[in-house]
Amino acid sequence: MHSDDLGTSYDVIVIGGGAAGLNGALMLARSRRSVVVIDGGQPRNAPAEGVHGLLGHDGMPPAELLERGRAEVRSYGGAVVEGSVSAISGAAGGFTVHLDDGRSAVGRRLLVTTGLVDELPGVDGLAERWGRDVIHCPYCHGWEVRDQAIGILATGPMASHQALLFRQLSLDVVVFTHTSELSEHDRTRLLVRDVGIVDGEVTGLEIVDHRVGGMRLADGTVVPRDVVVVQTRMAARAGFLADLGLAPIEHPMGVGSYVPADPTGLTAVRGVYVAGNITDLTAQVGAAAAAGALAGARINADLVEEETDLLVARRDATLAISVPTTDAAQAGVAAH
Ligand SMILES: Cc1cc2nc3c(=O)[nH]c(=O)nc-3n(C[C@H](O)[C@H](O)[C@H](O)COP(=O)(O)OP(=O)(O)OC[C@H]3O[C@@H](n4cnc5c(N)ncnc54)[C@H](O)[C@@H]3O)c2cc1C
Repeated sequence: MHSDDLGTSYDVIVIGGGAAGLNGALMLARSRRSVVVIDGGQPRNAPAEGVHGLLGHDGMPPAELLERGRAEVRSYGGAVVEGSVSAISGAAGGFTVHLDDGRSAVGRRLLVTTGLVDELPGVDGLAERWGRDVIHCPYCHGWEVRDQAIGILATGPMASHQALLFRQLSLDVVVFTHTSELSEHDRTRLLVRDVGIVDGEVTGLEIVDHRVGGMRLADGTVVPRDVVVVQTRMAARAGFLADLGLAPIEHPMGVGSYVPADPTGLTAVRGVYVAGNITDLTAQVGAAAAAGALAGARINADLVEEETDLLVARRDATLAISVPTTDAAQAGVAAH
């Protein structure tokens, strides 16, 4: 992406230029707010060929969607800068955002949309094929792998749920229990849907001609599979918020960590808003963009209120100086 120059101060600094951040910046730029998006250029779905399930853009390459978003933000006067934020100091009205290359800028409000990191189970071959034939989400890539031989790598309680969702897309689904215990309840539910179960640890994937060919068990057996489904641990990218007193918390379902916020994205720290995967681990592109747009609108309203309060306070102060109080006026009359 081409990068604009980073200025010194803005109404709003958006940290992270994925769907959430760009849609937030779009709302702010269209509200005539000075806004910059600082983006590290590593959106979560970068390995995927297309964005699926997004009305009007189904199948568009992720990079193309973001390039369009950046152009839209710029067309209203917003800036998009390449860079990585490492620390933040200050408070609402004047946050200083520090980049790891020494640059910095000041923003009255912050919109943090840095997403999450998918931490893969420690099995050889998963990272190599991640986002292509090692996948996690039936709505992102399920249609694309329909009717194929699918292996579910169980690492937690969500495995049988994932298996049933993928069974909707293929008759050939097998759960590999790996490090997870399947309850009798889950086994029965998988059995009635003709989902196979292979007990035992998976030690690696067989990769044949740059594709998944099978799943290798500890005893050396290879079970042929075209696609492997994993559950990642989803960790909010939020380390740089620590100095503001904002830290991610563990998700109650044990699936990762997130930064809590109210429905408009406002966090526990005044002036700091979040949107997208950093606060909603299940948000797909459409939901992340919608949350970013809502937060952008909320920030604009917040600034409008603050600016209006300031003008009212100034007007009251001016009136207090120019109009004598009743007591002072009476004292003046008495003196004559
Ligand atoms: C393999 C895969 C395929 C997927 N396919 C689909 C799909 O088909 N359809 C769908 O709807 N969803 C899909 N998703 C989900 C989709 O990726 C997310 O919904 C979406 O990326 C969330 O958007 P976001 O703006 O919250 O975060 P992201 O898109 O991850 O954007 C965050 C941005 O912040 C930047 N950033 C992070 N830290 C910093 C920092 N310190 N300083 C500056 N910038 C920073 C990153 O570089 C990144 O550009 C898929 C996910 C995966 C893993």
